[in-house]
Amino acid sequence: MGTKKQILILGGGFAGVYAARHVERFLRSDEASISLVNQENYWVDQPLLPEVISGLIGLTDVVSPIRQLCPRTQLVMREVQKIDLANKVVTVSPGFRPRLLELPFDYLVIALGSISNFSGTPGMVEHVKPFRTLSDALNLRNHLIHALDEAEIETDADLRRKLLTFVVAGGGFSGVEVVAELCDFVDKVRQNSPGLRNEKGRFVLVHAGDRILPEMSESLALFAHKLLAKRGIEIRLKDRLVGATSEKALLKSGLEIPTKTIVSSVPSSIPQVLEKLDCEKDGGRLKVNANLELVGYEGCVWALGDCASIKTVSGNRTPPTAQHAIREAKTVAKNIAAVIRGGPSSPFAFEGLGKLGSLGHYSAVAEILGVRISGFPAWLLWRAIYLAKLPGLRQKVRIALDWFLVLLFPPDFVQMRVVREAGIARQHFEAGEVVFFQGDLGDNVYVIQSGECEVLRETNGRQSHVAMLGPGDYFGEMALLSDVTRNATVRARTTMDVVLVSKNDFEALKTSVPAFGDVFRKLAKDRSAANLETHQKGSSAA
Ligand SMILES: Cc1cc2nc3c(=O)[nH]c(=O)nc-3n(C[C@H](O)[C@H](O)[C@H](O)COP(=O)(O)OP(=O)(O)OC[C@H]3O[C@@H](n4cnc5c(N)ncnc54)[C@H](O)[C@@H]3O)c2cc1C
Repeated sequence: MGTKKQILILGGGFAGVYAARHVERFLRSDEASISLVNQENYWVDQPLLPEVISGLIGLTDVVSPIRQLCPRTQLVMREVQKIDLANKVVTVSPGFRPRLLELPFDYLVIALGSISNFSGTPGMVEHVKPFRTLSDALNLRNHLIHALDEAEIETDADLRRKLLTFVVAGGGFSGVEVVAELCDFVDKVRQNSPGLRNEKGRFVLVHAGDRILPEMSESLALFAHKLLAKRGIEIRLKDRLVGATSEKALLKSGLEIPTKTIVSSVPSSIPQVLEKLDCEKDGGRLKVNANLELVGYEGCVWALGDCASIKTVSGNRTPPTAQHAIREAKTVAKNIAAVIRGGPSSPFAFEGLGKLGSLGHYSAVAEILGVRISGFPAWLLWRAIYLAKLPGLRQKVRIALDWFLVLLFPPDFVQMRVVREAGIARQHFEAGEVVFFQGDLGDNVYVIQSGECEVLRETNGRQSHVAMLGPGDYFGEMALLSDVTRNATVRARTTMDVVLVSKNDFEALKTSVPAFGDVFRKLAKDRSAANLETHQKGSSAA
């Protein structure tokens, strides 16, 4: 038996988590150790997310802890920042301590999914709500409850109309499911709100193609179209969202829809860290061969799920769906085991069993093994299949209970206010405590409110005193302005209170208020010049 191999999996969605589960099954713990990097410590069942909007499923029931799903896998809850394929190292974001962490690997599985990418369209980043993650679902639900509460007491008729108008961009599976759930939810809230009972909501689904649900056969898509239209949802085909403000949605056709709620499930791209990856891409996704190995890195790196461009043995391109990601994960795990134990790799051969889409209101469309079903039977089938597919008995029971309880009680309309982290925070230090160390990453700029600190620099193993700072002084800007690590350690001399501005907020202020950036640039320049002088004199200021 050779040395134990290190398998590193990037991404904790369908593709990553199922890959880890299968590797755990196929390889013994003395053959390989498995680590998985994901931004969150939970796995999200994305196909069930739209039901979180209407409260059919409880917020936490749609997620499962990754540690429970993959008990033999070490979870690293950080963000992947850099993948160095040549040196077989992945760099992840800092944790509590502002230091990068490097994770070496023998075998790498890339399963980072895709992201909502609104850049390039005016007002989209600011005013359009993405729908992909658990926090997107929570934000949208909170926003809807807020908009409906406001509509109930609003006396200005125009604003009231805007508050009751909802625009969803994208007529694929997720857009259709979102608009259907949104419509159901608003209807239920209206029934329970005396001030809204006589009001009608306006729901607009905008789709660039000539029919919704392009993933389905034409007849089922038509059925879904008619059903949604009957429910009062306006469907605008061959049109697209081209801009947004806080007051309206702007469509390519020139139509402007006054609204306070715009949701988009459309444009997606691979995460930035993968865009930067030096490897072949196909249609913006990572190019893999038939065995799901990254082209150019065969036998060492695999890519799967929404971030990969995959063709099956029959030459069909696999769609970005959960059912494909799960099967791809099994192929990848099998092939890693084959490489470690020695044996042939298998190509990915799954062609898909069928397609299911919920339309809310106890209705769905399904196409299973060539058979088309719609309406209530499709809805029952949809529920049965999704329940069966859920990993772990605990989640199956929780979701089944959620679905049963809404038949007995109305869903709750509680707005879960999550405390937003303030852009400017405060910190307190006792004398002797270190604010940051030389070599740490620059994460904040500090302004001293009270107390004092000293700046210390280590050169050739010798520590020298650079400066003393007091109330009104600021520090920490150099690492942020030049994007380098801290060039000194800062330690509190007395008890000290500081105000800190995070890197992101600092960047935003610097870009939008030039005078703000100028102050810090001048300060950094003066400090650099002073440091140089100190070094030239060969003295330390201690
Ligand atoms: C609303 C909605 C409804 C859907 N409905 C269906 C459906 O009915 N049927 C179906 O088959 N499919 C459906 N899909 C598609 C399906 O969910 C995806 O195809 C599937 O989730 C892809 O799995 P994945 O693992 O590739 O990506 P994801 O599930 O997106 O997982 C990627 C993971 O990587 C993590 N990640 C990304 N970047 C980083 C980084 N830099 N550092 C660390 N972690 C990172 C993310 O946090 C995430 O956990 C739906 C999708 C959505 C959004």
